[in-house]
Amino acid sequence: MDVLTSTAIKVTNPINGTILYEIDDPSEKELQDIFERARSVQRRIQAMSLDDRIKEVDKILQYVMQYQDLILDIIIAETGKSRTDAFAAEVFEVCDVVDVYKKMAPKVLKDRNVAIPVFLMGKKAKQFIEPLGTILVITPWNFPFYQVIVPSLMAFLAGNAVIVKPSEVTPLKPLWEHFFAKSDFMKDAIQVVVGGKETGARLVDMRPDKVHFTGSVRTGKRIMEACSKQLIAIDLELGGKDPSIVFDDINIDRTVNGVMWGAFTNAGQNCTGIERLYVQEGIYNKFIDELVDKTKKLRPSFPGRDITTDMDCDVGSMTAPFQVKIVEDHINDALEKGAKLLCGGIKEPGSMHMVPTILGECTHDMKIASEETFGPTIAVMKFKTEEEAIRLANDSPYGLGASVWTKDMDRGYRVARAIKCGNVCINNHMLNEADPYLPFGGVKDSGFGRFKGEEGLLTFCNLKSVLVDKMSDMIDPHWYPYTATKTTLLKNLMDSWFSKSRKYIKFAVNGLKIDTIGKKERLK
Ligand code: ADP
Repeated sequence: MDVLTSTAIKVTNPINGTILYEIDDPSEKELQDIFERARSVQRRIQAMSLDDRIKEVDKILQYVMQYQDLILDIIIAETGKSRTDAFAAEVFEVCDVVDVYKKMAPKVLKDRNVAIPVFLMGKKAKQFIEPLGTILVITPWNFPFYQVIVPSLMAFLAGNAVIVKPSEVTPLKPLWEHFFAKSDFMKDAIQVVVGGKETGARLVDMRPDKVHFTGSVRTGKRIMEACSKQLIAIDLELGGKDPSIVFDDINIDRTVNGVMWGAFTNAGQNCTGIERLYVQEGIYNKFIDELVDKTKKLRPSFPGRDITTDMDCDVGSMTAPFQVKIVEDHINDALEKGAKLLCGGIKEPGSMHMVPTILGECTHDMKIASEETFGPTIAVMKFKTEEEAIRLANDSPYGLGASVWTKDMDRGYRVARAIKCGNVCINNHMLNEADPYLPFGGVKDSGFGRFKGEEGLLTFCNLKSVLVDKMSDMIDPHWYPYTATKTTLLKNLMDSWFSKSRKYIKFAVNGLKIDTIGKKERLK
């Protein structure tokens, strides 16, 4: 059995408040057994050919294709997201990821021949791409299928065993049980450990070879602190406060639609959703009028709406009551500090069914424009010049995603370069995340390490450097005994090679002399 069962944390359907099931933290012994199984299966994974690992990963694709409706039903029941959000960002994208990595892994994970510098002439260098061992993946609640399966399959392809601790808010326990029962995926290669924060902390203490964490800044710091005690490597995919900059030369209709989606998809519960919107003054009124008008026409979830089957729901419910409190606090704080409610707002305090909300005249001293809100809100601000837009966009502790909307591609690239972030879109938003060929990650408080892309596979690898020399009767010129003659010859070599015009003959003569000494001179 790959999923542990338990009984204390209540997993709730956010749409109607019913308790779906309960989970508890596994015992110490159960966690130790999990690590033992991981370490034992890892030896077998490492011994497998990459082709065989790819065949295993292909089972994930086959499983998703066969059971996509069931997967969607379970995701929607635990997250409350609209069916299209769940389909696009969790199901379709997982298929894309498997497809891309089946092609990319053989290229990225094969050993490499590496060049050598002049100092090491005559030797060879290589890089062995090896697994790290056991990877602990700790995931948040907003994309509970994608965020578990994608890092796990990447770490597995690289030859690691994987232990995943999904969020206790959306653990998808029935889905993992079904997956391991039906997919025929290699036993114990990926183990999903359902439990609370304490379970996550105990798993870190058991010394995995690397932790891959996606979640909040606060928890990321705490886990990094725990990792530092045992020098465990960690990648941190943390929060964001994405700016979106709209210049006055855009196609208004297209950009309004794009911004609306970038802000409200997944009910705004995305680390790279649009949270701050900067609109150039020349089109400000027209653009905002249209944005507000269209936003009012979005069809959100509401109590009693069966969004599991109703495909016409644009914006699903919020997933976690604690997040609703944060979003409400940010809206109230903005209104108290002088922001203008342009649409939406808090219709019913505490309701999981939040309506898309746009706040005008925001300033950076408001929480809605400076802290991660993670809800269906947009904080709108006006700007005059490109420089001002860049300055405002960079005025944030976060550096995850951003977008620039303009017809002027030179300006698009210029601004994209000037924003301090890990991912940026020109004339779209957030789609970097949907491209498994692109590395994804942040700077500043948004974390570090890159996930996906070639770098994302290599993050789960030990890049072992191998220097290969011949076995002969020669010793190296820089080995003992150190003598004035050897040092002079080495200096001559350096001077002849690095002088403004390379002196090949002098280089060769000194090289031959060094070889001769290398055959003769030894400490007796
Ligand atoms: P969110 O899901 O809101 O981003 P967190 O960042 O707190 O929330 O949690 C993300 C994941 O980290 C969850 O799976 C959670 O159980 C886990 N977690 C929380 N605290 C710790 C901790 N101290 N050590 C390890 N894992 C933790």
